[in-house]
Amino acid sequence: MSNNEEKFKKIISHAKEYGFVFQSSEIYDGLSAVYDYGQNGVEMKNNIKEYWWKSMVQYHENIVGVDSAIFMHPTIWKASGHVDAFSDPMIDNKDSKKRYRADVLVEDFIAKIEGKIQKEITKARKRFGESFDENQFKTTNPRVLANVNKIEDIKNRLYPAMDSDNLEDIKLLIEELGIACPISGSKNWTDVRQFNLMFSTQMGSLSEDANQIFLRPETAQGIFVNYLNIQKSGRMKIPFGIAQIGKAFRNEIVARQFIFRMKEFEQMEMQFFVRPGEELKWFEYWKNERIKWHLSLGIPEEKYRFHDHEKLAHYANAASDIEFDFPMGFKELEGIHSRTDFDLAAHQKFSGKKIQYFDPELNQSYVPFVVETSIGLDRTFLALFSHSYNEEVLEDGSMRVVMKLPPIIAPYKVAVLPLVKKDNLPEKAREIMDSLKYNYMCQYDEKDAIGRRYRRQDAIGTPYCITIDHQTLEDNTVTIRERDSMKQERIAIGKISGIIAERIND
Ligand code: ATP
Repeated sequence: MSNNEEKFKKIISHAKEYGFVFQSSEIYDGLSAVYDYGQNGVEMKNNIKEYWWKSMVQYHENIVGVDSAIFMHPTIWKASGHVDAFSDPMIDNKDSKKRYRADVLVEDFIAKIEGKIQKEITKARKRFGESFDENQFKTTNPRVLANVNKIEDIKNRLYPAMDSDNLEDIKLLIEELGIACPISGSKNWTDVRQFNLMFSTQMGSLSEDANQIFLRPETAQGIFVNYLNIQKSGRMKIPFGIAQIGKAFRNEIVARQFIFRMKEFEQMEMQFFVRPGEELKWFEYWKNERIKWHLSLGIPEEKYRFHDHEKLAHYANAASDIEFDFPMGFKELEGIHSRTDFDLAAHQKFSGKKIQYFDPELNQSYVPFVVETSIGLDRTFLALFSHSYNEEVLEDGSMRVVMKLPPIIAPYKVAVLPLVKKDNLPEKAREIMDSLKYNYMCQYDEKDAIGRRYRRQDAIGTPYCITIDHQTLEDNTVTIRERDSMKQERIAIGKISGIIAERIND
């Protein structure tokens, strides 16, 4: 097992042990790729939502929110293209009976070749030292060149085959590349088939015409179908945005990697409506705004990167992902898409209702174009959680696990700890707790030695611990301990609230 895999395992078990994330239906042996958030997880998740909502809705005068229903008219999914095109090519291995996304199998194969190229570069850098010119090496070294060309050839087969739904060719490619099932090691594959990712159910009683409806696979359509309602009732002027946080459902085939890929998850999406022809300007604007938002949480820049799409979805004329360096490597965290007028025009056609905006400055009506920012709440959780997990060896040789969560995201902001469970210290601690708890999530803990209590707070990422001792009763001062540095300072009780507020708003 690699170091990263080992760390990922530890992170997953920490999430469970400390009440952040549990496997769904665990006492019934679990439900695959479905998770529940525990007492600390739900606080952290709510904090992420609030941080996003404030930055999108509260700080932008021209963005408003909506909370649309999960159930929607089935024709919406016909119009959006999801009934016909929201599918992944899948392939089964006949020996292991495991199902894979055919394109992911090929992409994993490409990643292996990229790994080989990277190894050659690292080796050469060591050999040539200071004078090493990576670009020159990549364009002249025969082994690297052969691998670069190989990747090009594979991409030139895969993407056109995906675009034209040429499932036979994807199968052929998998066979030609000699890709084996990671579990059985065999190359005994079924044909490649399309698999629609939408969950469906029936609405209406059996005696009526049963109507197949879908659980929404994205929150965006709830925004599009409310475009007219909100534009009119809010007298919104273009450019303007509508934001939504809510559940989405996808019958994912590749269901692994903890909460990275779930069947039921939450999205935080914003659709920004703009003049036709101005969408690429706004696309760049939102790429920039969104990366700034991520960096504002204090995680180093090198953990993020943009990935511009080569293969565009059926509705987009530009698309870029913000990828994060998760424990399993760089993967998509957020998508920024220029969706053209695809969705609104389609709903106009399928509903027969005019969905247009009269632009007083241009004196003309048009179907607005859309730039969307779409971020996974659970993936943001995983990004922050995995980056914050730290194991530290302390001066006395003992080990502590500390979650260095951004304070604004941490489930609890402060723990209130009477040094001992007697001599009126609990009563004094309760008084302090009562003065703080209406403003901050506080935890009261009087059990075990103080050192163990500090460890428990470190493990859930509480930025501050307040300890009440005998001196507190005399002069109304306490010690405040900071999570990351473990520094302790004696301060007046009246100062606690200000210190916490400053750190959270930093
Ligand atoms: P991927 O390529 O990883 O399947 P996607 O491109 O299909 O993702 P989008 O449709 O752009 O994803 O959805 C927007 C965001 O929703 C993603 O960036 C991701 O953060 C989140 N998301 C999508 N699918 C899932 C899932 N199954 N589980 C958790 N989050 C998801």
